[in-house]
This record gives sequence, C-alpha cells and structure tokens, in this order.
Amino acid sequence: MKKTILPYVLKNAYDYNGSVNEKAVLGLVLRAHPELKKDVPVVLKEINILAGEVSKLTLKDIKKQLQTISPELLQKEKEEVKGPLKALPNAVKGKFVVRIAPSPSGALHIGHAYGAALNSEYATMYGGKFILRIEDTNPENIYPDAYRLIEEDAQWLTNNNVSQIIIQSNRLGIYYDYAEKLVNQGNAYVCTCDADEGRELKNKGQVCPCRNLPKNEHLQRYAKMFSGYAEGEAVLRIKTDIKHKNPAMRDFSIMRINEHIHPKTGKEHRVWPLMIFSVAIDDHELGITHVLNGKDHADNAKKEAMIMEMLHWTPPEYKHWGRINFEGFQLSTSKTRLKIEQGEYSGWDDIRLPFLPALRRRGYQPEAFKKFARNIGLSLNDKTVSQEEFWKMINSFNGECIEADSNRYFAIIDPLGVKIKKAPSGIVEVPLHPNRPEKGKRKLPVKEEIYIAEDDYKQLTLNKIHRLIDYCNFTFNKGKLSFHSKDYDSYRSSKDKGKIIHWLPVEETVNIEIKHPDGKTMVGKGEKVLKKLPKGTIIQLERMFFARIDSIKKEKVVLWYLHE
Ligand SMILES: [Zn+2]
Repeated sequence: MKKTILPYVLKNAYDYNGSVNEKAVLGLVLRAHPELKKDVPVVLKEINILAGEVSKLTLKDIKKQLQTISPELLQKEKEEVKGPLKALPNAVKGKFVVRIAPSPSGALHIGHAYGAALNSEYATMYGGKFILRIEDTNPENIYPDAYRLIEEDAQWLTNNNVSQIIIQSNRLGIYYDYAEKLVNQGNAYVCTCDADEGRELKNKGQVCPCRNLPKNEHLQRYAKMFSGYAEGEAVLRIKTDIKHKNPAMRDFSIMRINEHIHPKTGKEHRVWPLMIFSVAIDDHELGITHVLNGKDHADNAKKEAMIMEMLHWTPPEYKHWGRINFEGFQLSTSKTRLKIEQGEYSGWDDIRLPFLPALRRRGYQPEAFKKFARNIGLSLNDKTVSQEEFWKMINSFNGECIEADSNRYFAIIDPLGVKIKKAPSGIVEVPLHPNRPEKGKRKLPVKEEIYIAEDDYKQLTLNKIHRLIDYCNFTFNKGKLSFHSKDYDSYRSSKDKGKIIHWLPVEETVNIEIKHPDGKTMVGKGEKVLKKLPKGTIIQLERMFFARIDSIKKEKVVLWYLHE
C-alpha cells in the first residue's frame, strides 16, 4: 500500500512547495486505484504517516524521489509550469504591447522581478513588445542612479527583451499639448482655490468658483502656470461628475507646479503632470494594448481610462494581479537607499539584499525568476509568500538552470592537516560533474598529507571503513588514520561503511573566503584550480552548496554563496 500511495504524496508535496494536503492526495489515490475505496481509513492513515515523512524532505529530494519512482507524474507537472500563461482577453499575436513603469527610486527587487518577468513572458507569448517606461514626473522623488540600475535589471531579467525605453521627463511637451487640448475642449480647468477649501467643496459634491469660468480665462490661467503662479497656487483639474460616489474621482488634478530641481531637466520645467495623466497619454501614444500590474493601481486605472475617453481613445485592457506580500523581506527602496547612503550596506548589490543586483551577483539566473512568475501566473487573489517558501521555490528553479553546467570542486572550511598511513601517492582523478563524464576530470596530485574538515574528523568512528571521495578508504584508530583499500564498491552497502568525506591535497590548495547572505564569511581552503577559473563562474562545492566566484585576488579566491 505504501508503494502505491507514496508517489501521490510526493507529487502533492512537490506541487505545493513541500506541504501535503492529505485530502487532495486521497482524491488522487482513489482516482488512480478505485479498488482502495473500501479501505479509506487505512489509506488515510498511511497518507498521514507518509506526509509526515515527506514534509521533512527538501523540495530537491522530493523531486529526486519522484523522478526515481514515478517520473510520469513529474512530467505532467513540468508541462504545466512550462506551458503558456493563461490567455488574456483581446490579445492578438503580433499586436500586443505591454509595459512596466517603475519610478526611479532604486534598483528593482524580487517583487518588481515578478511583475517585469510576467509582462515580458506575455510579450514573448504573443510575439509583442515589452516597453520599459521610467516614470520620473515627480521631481522630488528621484534617485539619479536608478535610471541606469533599472535599465540594467530589466534587460538582465528579460534577457534583453526590452523593446523600447521611455523616460517621461523627455516627453513633457507631449503632456503640455494634450493638457491644453483638454482645456480647449472644456474638459479641464485651472483651479486656484485654497487646497483645503477646494477639498471641502468636492467632498460636499459642490463645484468650486473656478470650474465654470469661461474657457478663455482657463487658457490664460493655464499659460500662467508656466510663469505666473507660484508653486501650490494653481492646479489643472479634469471635469468629472462632481457627485461621483467616490470623492477621489471628483474633478481630480492632472498637472501641478513643482519648483524642485529635476536631475534630468534641471530648472527648465516647473509644470509637471501627475502620474495618472502622463500614464494615460503614454499608454495611448505607445500603443499599449494590455496593462498588467498590481491591484493597488486599479483606482488610478479608472482615472486614466476617464482621461483617455475624453480624448476619444480606447483604453487598454487592464488586468490587476493580487497583492503579493513577501513576508519578512525588507523591500522598501527608500529605506534601503538610506542605508546604502549611510554605509550600512555596500551598495544595491550588497549580498544581504533581496534586490536584483545582489541576487545577480550571487549567481541567480533570469530563468529562475521567469519560472517563478509563470508559476504564480496572473493571479487575482492576494497571497503571502514567506521567506522560506520564496527561497525554496526560487532556489529549486535556479538549481534547474545551473545544475548541469556547474562543475564540482572540493573546498574545506576549518581544514585540518592529516596523514593517512600508507596511503598511495600519485594523481587522483575526480570527475568535474558526476552525471556528465564528457566534461572530463580534475587532477589532484596527492603526497602523504591531506586536509579534511575538522567537523568530519570529529565524527570519525572506530571499526568503520571511511571513504575519501574518489581516492581511497581508511580506518580510524586512536586519532590516527590508516589506509585500508582503494576500491569503494565492495563497501558501498557493507555494514562497515563509515563516513564519506571530501579532502584536499595540502600542497594543491588556495585560500578561499565564502560570503553568505546573512553577512557572515567562511574561511578555508579550496582546490588550487579555482584560481584559474574566470570570475563569475558558478560552481558546486561538493557536499556543500553552489557558489559564484566573485573575485580572484593574489592571496585568495572570494566566493559568494548561492544556494544548496
Ligand atoms: Zn477652484
């Protein structure tokens, strides 16, 4: 019975990031094996026991087991993840344009990565365009480095799938023309009321004294916004239904005066569009067919559609995904920026940060984020993703991207020099990759003394035959290690089997330093050849984890921890 049920428990655990829904498993089992219907209580009990065992495994191990005992279940899962995303209404192949529209406040983080990857994947699916539009029409909130950071992150994340880069502060003339058009049409007016009084009137559903002034008066007032009025003295408003049930929709502002110096345009401009206005104009001008963003944009989208209708344009299709709460992550761009400026973080690529420059430097691949986006899809429900869940998913996706190409090397933290009595010297050949013999082998010349990890040494037991990977077997007695035999196969399943450990020839090593996302650094020794690998190479340190070579210095190789 256990044999029949186990694949379904594994499959369910794999689909839901390690947690098992026992009722769902029961359904799957009974569908495949109706003969078990008469034993439901027994089946449930077995599922419960297996679920307990499986929940202790990592996602990687779950997958490995499933692959061994029931690969057909895994196959189905794979097709689902890789398949196209859910179709969008009115999307036409070749005539599909989407955009992401970040403000220039810092680098992109894992939340932006989801949105950018999802938009880019849809553009690919429909053979359309993916536009990056930097929305910098609020001169007060701009971080000059962000233009470059955002462009780099977006291009990296989408494998250079960005069709066009738009910077809104270059387009002020376009917004001015349309604003004037709206005044001319009688759809917009310049309001010079005191802000509090104006708000009070609006809340009561009453028009302010400016609204019904003649159009020519408003055209003059509009011209005066560019030179006459002071900041805060006048705003351009849209005429909507002053009794609209949502007060936020009543005669909202679309242009204002702001004297702040803008990092791109300096003091040249003082009249700035509010986001809803520049977004409405650009979505039309750039031919955006679908706006895919978070539901915090839903109210703005309604205002944007109102503006577009006044200009006799068809608004794009709006789809707003549910809020994804990345629980426990510090994703505030402004706080992170402050900590960088105060020197608490070394930059946006500080290893502790969940921002793309840091994750890229650790060795994460764009494909891992794309898989994450495809996996969640465009879901309208809010969801919470815990840190544990996020890393489990993204690491498993990243593992799929890098596993086959990452060569294996030995590294030892807290190395201890030991002699293996009577061990053969010579050159030991170790495969660069256990499953890819075509990659060849690395050669470790060994003479008497080797390094092993102090932790491994402490765990050696008497009366067992221990194994140095790809080298030889040894025994342990009174603190001494003695050669036992070369061949491993005869001990593989023997009851005498002891620990399998990795090692390094003392004379063939290089100092290494491994930086971890918790800010800690490990120090040890690695294979000498690490010094010759190109910077940026992703490797697997055997029996440890994946890491990326960050820098190679005269006295050491610095690695960044990636994941297990
Ligand atoms: Zn007014």
